[in-house]
This record gives sequence, C-alpha cells and structure tokens, in this order.
Amino acid sequence: MTVELQPKVRSTPIFVPELVYFEPQALDYPKGQRIWEWAKQQGLPVHITPSHNRIMNLPGDSDLEKYKIAKRTLVVGLRKTLTFDQSKPSAEYAIPIATGCMGHCHYCYLQTTLGAKPYIRIYVNMDDILHAAEKYIVERAPEITRFEAACTSDPVGLEHIGGSLKDLIEFMGKQPLGRLRFVTKFHHVEPLLDAKHNKHTRFRFSVNADYVIKNFEPSTSSFAERIEAAGKVARSGYPLGFIIAPIIWHEGWENGYAELLRKLKDAVPEEATSDLTFELIQHRFTKTAKRVIEQRYPKTKLELDETKRKYKWGRWGQGKYVYPDDQADALREFITERIFENFPNATIDYFT
Ligand code: SF4
Repeated sequence: MTVELQPKVRSTPIFVPELVYFEPQALDYPKGQRIWEWAKQQGLPVHITPSHNRIMNLPGDSDLEKYKIAKRTLVVGLRKTLTFDQSKPSAEYAIPIATGCMGHCHYCYLQTTLGAKPYIRIYVNMDDILHAAEKYIVERAPEITRFEAACTSDPVGLEHIGGSLKDLIEFMGKQPLGRLRFVTKFHHVEPLLDAKHNKHTRFRFSVNADYVIKNFEPSTSSFAERIEAAGKVARSGYPLGFIIAPIIWHEGWENGYAELLRKLKDAVPEEATSDLTFELIQHRFTKTAKRVIEQRYPKTKLELDETKRKYKWGRWGQGKYVYPDDQADALREFITERIFENFPNATIDYFT
C-alpha cells in the first residue's frame, strides 16, 4: 500500500513577544492587569519602564538585531496624546489603540513613521481613548465620523493580548454617528466574531498578488488564511472590504492581479458581495524609506529606483516616488475592470 504524503501547511502562529515592558501606571487598569497575568503565564520576562516612549538598550549587537528584537518586544502603557490625527482618505480620524507591528513587510510605512521605536505598544486606558472619540463624534454631528484603527499598527494581530479592538467595535456599535474601520494581514479573527458590531465596523483585509505576498510580507498570515478569515468575518455580519496595497508593478502583474480577484471571488460568501468595498493604493516610497528599507532588508527585491518613478511633492517638503502616470493608469484601469468583472456590486472607495 502506498501512502500519499500531503505537504503540511503550517498555520501562522499568534504573536507571542520575547520581551515585555510595563509602565507602572498600566497596572492600575484591568486591561494592564490582564496582560501582566498573560505575560506571566507565557513565562515571558517582564520589566518595568518609566515610559513607553523610552525603551533603551534592547539586546542585539547590531542595529539590525536590535530592530528584529524590537519587533518582538511589547510595551504596555498609557496613551497620553488624545488628539487624533487625520486619516484621509479612508476615514476622518486615526484612533490610537496600539502602535507598532510584528509583521516584517518590507514596504511598511511604519519603518519610517516609527523611526527608532519599532517596538509594539498597547495602550490600556481605553476609557480615555473612547471618551476622546466621543468628543470627535459630537463635534461633527449630524455628520457620521469614521475612525481608522490600523494607522499605526495591525490591531487584529494583537487582539489576543489586549482585546482593545473588541472594546472599540462594541463602543462604535452603540454610536449612531460613529463608524470604525481597520485593516489586517492576520487571520486571528476568532475573538472578534461575536462582538456586537451593529454593522458599524468595516472589517478589511489587506490582499495582494502572490508575488507581493511571497516576497515582501514575511511574518504575516498567508493569503489562504486571510481569505478564510474574511469569510468568517462576513458570515458574522460585518461589512467587508479589501485593500489592495501596495499595488506593485512586477513581471506578470496582470496575471497576478487577475488571479487575486478570481481567488477572492471564489472565497467571498455571496451575502458579503452586495456591500463590499475595495481600496487601491499604488506603491510609493520616500528617500528616507528607501534608506531604511535597504538597511533593514538588504536583500529585498522591492524596486526602489527613483529614475523609474514620478516625483510627487508632499506637504512637508518630503515628496514621494510613485509610478509614472502611464503605469499608474494601467494598474488602476486593469484592476478596476477585474474588480467589477468579479464583483459587479462592489464599490471602489479610492485609488491613490
Ligand atoms: Fe506594516 Fe501592516 Fe505589515 Fe504590520 S502587517 S508590518 S503594519 S504592513
């Protein structure tokens, strides 16, 4: 008798940090206490730090080693800045429940925005954050106010530790004029499936052509895991969305993106297709990002050649390199057609 061996597909594990720091005040909050207990149960080394903004002397002999350990370091503290940044074009405001991410996407904008502090921060003073959100909602009434929870992190990948996303989803579920959205590359959605969302939260998954996921998104869930999770989320009644970002011009990109849309069509449950959104973001980089990416991922295949790009002036003097118009138009037109071919009732929120 011959036994056919199936290749073993490894599921992406939930994130467990290697080092944990607490601000002392964080332990005055039930969420801080819970995370402390969790860290102890996991047998993790726990330290006290005077401020979540000042984690020094992470182990490692080189900047690269320090960067890698920072990505596996969790800091539990209080969010002091309760002024929310704007979050155009996807929402009015960014709502800060966590900062930093354990993913290693080469192109990630957190590489530059978090600078020398790439470690992961979870904030335990949720009541203060929700209270601030409420004020923003009141200010804009009777307009709806949308909050983006994934501007500085991938909160789904941290939910098993902090549980903050569920707090936020249920808070927004009760707000007649408040809406929440976030995006993830992780499939660990289980704790959120029974949240009372009242359809006020749009749950989006970041998806891409195979080439992009395989080459540039280490330490995130696989495409198959993400779309399986998208199905679960849709069946739990959440409005669903996909962000295709960054859209990357590569050899065979037409096949790659056509295949992506075909696979999504096969995976998305029928009931989610009447209110499905897409957001399309082409790859861009700044000079600073290029320098950081080349230091942190020296073997990356990410194309960062300024001479092949168009320079787009930025508001603060720091411009970005985007695709020249003919390439950007070709990407936009081709992907838009494939979206409507597969999802005639979907909405494309924007291409940028
Ligand atoms: Fe950045 Fe998102 Fe990748 Fe995390 S999952 S590294 S936030 S792009």
